[in-house]
Amino acid sequence: MRPINTHASTGDVNPYGPSWPRTGPQWLRLVGNFVNLSTEAGLLVAVIGRADIRRGPRGLFLCEGYRLRFPIASAFTIGNVITTGRTWTEMTAAHPGLLKHEERHTWQYLYCLGLPFYLPYSLCMGWSMLRTGDRAARNFFERQAGLATGGYRDLPVRPIADGIRAVLRQV
Ligand SMILES: [Zn+2]
Repeated sequence: MRPINTHASTGDVNPYGPSWPRTGPQWLRLVGNFVNLSTEAGLLVAVIGRADIRRGPRGLFLCEGYRLRFPIASAFTIGNVITTGRTWTEMTAAHPGLLKHEERHTWQYLYCLGLPFYLPYSLCMGWSMLRTGDRAARNFFERQAGLATGGYRDLPVRPIADGIRAVLRQV
C-alpha cells in the first residue's frame, strides 16, 4: 500500500495525516461514535475487508485497500471510520471534495446515535428512489453531506404517482 503522507519530504503539513480533534464537537464525535459502537463497527468492517487502518485527521480513521465488493461504493463511512478500496492519495487527487463529504456522514452517525442511522438513511433512500429514480438525489443524508462532492447528481423530482408506477415496474 502506498503511504498517505506524500508531503513528508517537503515538510508540508499533510491535511490527511493523523491528528486529534481540534474542537469540542470533534471530541464529542470521537467519544460519541465510540460509545454508540459505530466506530468499532467501522473498524471491524475494515478488518473483515482486509483494509489498511490508519489514523486520520480530527480523530477520524482513514482505511484503504478494502477488498470486498460490498458496499458498492468507492468510499464509505461507518462511525468515524472512512474506508476506500483504493488509496486516499488517489481518491483525494481524483475527488477533492470526497473526504469532506464522507466526514459529514460521521456527524450523521453521531446524531443518529450510531447504527440506527441506517433506518432513516434507508427510508430517505427509498424516498429518493420514488421521487427521482436515484438513491441519492433526494436522500436527505446525501444532500446534507453534499451531492456533488459525493459524486452524485441532483435530479428533478417527478410526481409521486409517476414514481410509484416506475418503482412497481421494477418489482
Ligand atoms: Zn455519501
